[in-house]
Amino acid sequence: MKHNITIAIDGYSSSGKSTMARELAKKIGYVYIDSGAMYRAVTLAALRNGLISADGKIDTHGLIALLPEISITFSTPDPVSGSSHTLLNGENVESEIRGMEVSEHVSAVSAIPEVRRRLTAMQQALGDSKGIVMDGRDIGTTVFPEAEMKVFVDASPEVRAKRRYAELKAKGDDISYAEVEANIRKRDETDINRKESPLRKAPDAHILNNDTLSRTEQMEWLTGLFHQITSGMQ
Ligand code: C5P
Repeated sequence: MKHNITIAIDGYSSSGKSTMARELAKKIGYVYIDSGAMYRAVTLAALRNGLISADGKIDTHGLIALLPEISITFSTPDPVSGSSHTLLNGENVESEIRGMEVSEHVSAVSAIPEVRRRLTAMQQALGDSKGIVMDGRDIGTTVFPEAEMKVFVDASPEVRAKRRYAELKAKGDDISYAEVEANIRKRDETDINRKESPLRKAPDAHILNNDTLSRTEQMEWLTGLFHQITSGMQ
């Protein structure tokens, strides 16, 4: 019998959690949702509407007023790779939300309580019928505290920065390793220290440290945990 459970995967920036969450969802036939992409899309909307100044100051009132105008959806996943595109008011913004400009401001935007409340409600609606893998920072603590399977992914800042740098370079971004590492450390700090839903390991989350694990080993670990959890269910 196939069990539809909720799977929450949280962890630090660039810990590889999105890749593993997407692969897991594809393997077990679940829907995958990248909650970070939703925070990134709101940040892009704020930038496009001139609500973030050059020195990084956010017009919070303007952004709160803009929230009802922002629709975030995802394209149907590619059957082979399992990837989908993030759509901001219907426009494919997948590439733009991954760039450095959005990365620079996304943690500050995510710290605004009204932004979190709106996106949390959207995420909970997406996971209503279970059978979902969602990754982010507060999925196991705030969005789905009742999730049957919770994973917290850990990896050192250096390993994460190297991974992200390689990704951005492969895309052709003109960026230095030092900038990438600084951005990752800054986002960690903002995510851990914000008042509303800070990045925390849920007490009942299983820790996956992927500093040295290969992708195959990670998938074996995740599918093993999934089968262990669902096999104990009626
Ligand atoms: O996962 P990703 O690195 O793309 O997320 C971008 C940013 O969005 C994070 O640095 C964090 O500030 C924010 N975020 C969040 N809560 C989530 C997912 C992402 O605050 N559930």
